[in-house]
Amino acid sequence: MLNSGFNPKQSLVYADQWENYVAGLVNQERNLHSTDRAMLPLVEHVERLTLLCEAMWALISEKTNLSQDDLSKKMTELDLEDGVLDHKHNKPPMDCPECGNKICRKFGRCLFFGYNPENTSAFETI
Ligand SMILES: [Zn+2]
Repeated sequence: MLNSGFNPKQSLVYADQWENYVAGLVNQERNLHSTDRAMLPLVEHVERLTLLCEAMWALISEKTNLSQDDLSKKMTELDLEDGVLDHKHNKPPMDCPECGNKICRKFGRCLFFGYNPENTSAFETI
């Protein structure tokens, strides 16, 4: 029998693999888009917060003698409160004055016995 190099059964395997490959790409594309869509509210939230920070800094620098250098130094000071210069202000959990357990700042109260610190800054609730 002459070998033409064409094997119909093998072609069907390749076609099947090709379909799977293309289906995988389509799924990746679909997942990417759904991730982008899910991120949109977060991106818009960050953009609003950025605008708020810019407006606050514009007012502060106009009304005071504080400079851009003062702002940069304060950012570094807050950043380093946890000992790591990572452009984030990670605040460690605080100790509950009533039971001694850690109070997660995200929840703003002791999850064991409900102690609610009164004098927390507005930034603690974000
Ligand atoms: Zn407690």
